[in-house]
Amino acid sequence: MDAIVALAKRRGFIFQSSEIYGGLNGFFDYGPLGVELKKNIRDCWWADMVRRRDDIVGVETSIIMHPKVWEASGHVAGFTDPLVDCKVSKQRYRADQLFFAAVVVTGADGVAKTVGYVSALESEKTTADLQAAAENLKRKKAIQGQLAPVQPKDMTEATPEEIPLIPSPATGEPGSLTEPRAFNMMFETHVGPMRDSSAVAYLRPETAQGMFVDFKNVVDTGRVKLPFGIAQIGKSFRNEITPRNFIFRSREFEQMEMEYFIHPDADWLKCHEEWLAWCQEWLKSIGLPESHLSLHEHPKAKLAFYSRRTVDIMFRYPFGVQELWGIAARSDYDLQQHQKHSGVPQVYFDEATKQKVVPHVIEPAVGVDRILLAVLCAGYAEEDVKDDKGNVEKRTVLRLSPRIAPVKVAVLPLLKNKEALVGRAKELYGKLKRNYAVFYDEAGAIGRRYRRQDEIGTPWCVTIDFDTIEKDGTFTLRERDSMQQKRITEAELFALLAEKVY
Ligand code: ATP
Repeated sequence: MDAIVALAKRRGFIFQSSEIYGGLNGFFDYGPLGVELKKNIRDCWWADMVRRRDDIVGVETSIIMHPKVWEASGHVAGFTDPLVDCKVSKQRYRADQLFFAAVVVTGADGVAKTVGYVSALESEKTTADLQAAAENLKRKKAIQGQLAPVQPKDMTEATPEEIPLIPSPATGEPGSLTEPRAFNMMFETHVGPMRDSSAVAYLRPETAQGMFVDFKNVVDTGRVKLPFGIAQIGKSFRNEITPRNFIFRSREFEQMEMEYFIHPDADWLKCHEEWLAWCQEWLKSIGLPESHLSLHEHPKAKLAFYSRRTVDIMFRYPFGVQELWGIAARSDYDLQQHQKHSGVPQVYFDEATKQKVVPHVIEPAVGVDRILLAVLCAGYAEEDVKDDKGNVEKRTVLRLSPRIAPVKVAVLPLLKNKEALVGRAKELYGKLKRNYAVFYDEAGAIGRRYRRQDEIGTPWCVTIDFDTIEKDGTFTLRERDSMQQKRITEAELFALLAEKVY
C-alpha cells in the first residue's frame, strides 16, 4: 500500500487535500493523471450503464436538496455509525471497527478465568493482534496457566459490565472508553442568509435520493417504460468517524448509482441476480481480475429493515477484503416514503393492467474512488527485467486496462535532434490527440522513456525510427505488459485503439 500511495503522489495521480496546510483528514485531490483515470472510469460506466442501453436514462441532481428529502429517506434519524470516545486521549473510534477480547486462562485447578481484556483496531490481522496482546498481558501479570484462543467481538457487542474493563487502543489502559452512541454522518450547512435551524440543509450522503425525488419528472418526460433505470454520477459527503486506507474511506467521494425500477409483481430476485452479474462483468471489463473479487451476502438479521436482499461485491485490497460495490433490493421503501412525506403520488401507470403502481427498486451503488484504488492496487507491480545489454533492472508497472488508462499511447521519436523523426512523430501525435489521450516524449534514452510510461500505465508506446522515415512508414509498437515490440502501420495503430479503447 505504501508503494502505491508513493507512486500516486510521485506521478501526479492523488494528492492530500490542502497539503501545504498539513492536509485535511478524509479529503483528497486528483492530479493530472488521476483526474484522467477517474474520468475514464466514470465515462466507461456511463457509456455501458446509460448510453449503450435502451432502458436506462441519466440525471444530475443537486448536491444540496430540500431537508425534507433526508427526513423522508430516514437519514436525519438514522444515518449513523456507532461512536466510542476515549475520555483520556480524546480519540474517537467507530465501535464496529474497534475489537476486544477477554483474556481467558485455565489454571492448574482446571478452572478457566477471565484475567483481563485486550483491544485492537480492525485490520486484516485483528485476531492475531488480540492474541499477541493477550499473551503480553498474561506475561506482564505473571499469570500461570493455559491461555485460551481469543474470541474477538466488536464494541457494539460489549456489555455495560465489560466496557470499563476494555483498554483504550490509544492509552492501553481500561476505564476511558464510553458506551457506543449514534453519530450522524451528514454534513450540515445553512442555505441563505439566516443561520438558524430553519435554514439547515445537508450535503447529500448519497446520490440515490436524487433519482427517487426526480422519479415522477423522469416518468412524465422521459418516455420510459417499466422496467427502467435512472443513473447518476456525483459527489457525496459523509462525516466518517475514521476515514482511512487512503481514498478507500474518505469524507468527500464520488458515487455512481443506478435505481432500477421494476413492477411490484416482477421477479425481483432474478433482477437482483442479473444486476449482480452485470456489475461483476463490468468490473472485469475495466481490468479488475476475477481472482480479487468475491461476494458478501448481508445476513438477514443485519439487513436494513427495508432491504429484501443486499449483496456486496468485495475486492481484495492490500489492507484486506473490503466492500467495493453494494447491490441492494430496496423494495418500494424510498418512493413510498417520498409519497408520504411530500403528499405527491409516486406512481407509474401500468398500461397492461390499467393500474397505478409504486415500483420496486434494485440499486447497484459504487464509489468511483474505491474503483480507482482497486485498479491501482490490482495493476501495480514491481518486476526484475533485463535491459538490451542483459543487465537486470527494476521496473514499476501499472497494468491498467486500455479502457481506463490515463494515457493510451506515448509517441516517441527515436532521436530528438533529427528533424525528420521529430516531424513525423509530431504529425502522428497531432492525429492521435483528436480522439485519444496521448503523450509526446522525446527526452532521454528510449528504455527510460518506456519505463516512465510503464509506471503510469500507458498500454502502448510508438517509436518513430529510421525505418519509419526511410523505408515503409511503419512504427515500432511496444506493448506495456509483455514488453514485446512489433512493426505496425498507422492504420493498424488506429484499428488497435478503436478495438481496445471503448
Ligand atoms: P461502508 O460500509 O464501507 O461504509 P456503505 O455500505 O455505507 O459503505 P453505501 O452506502 O452502500 O456504502 O454506498 C455505496 C458505495 O459508495 C460503497 O459501496 C462504496 O463504494 C462507496 N462509498 C461509501 N462510503 C464511502 C466513503 N466514505 N468513501 C469512499 N467511498 C464510499
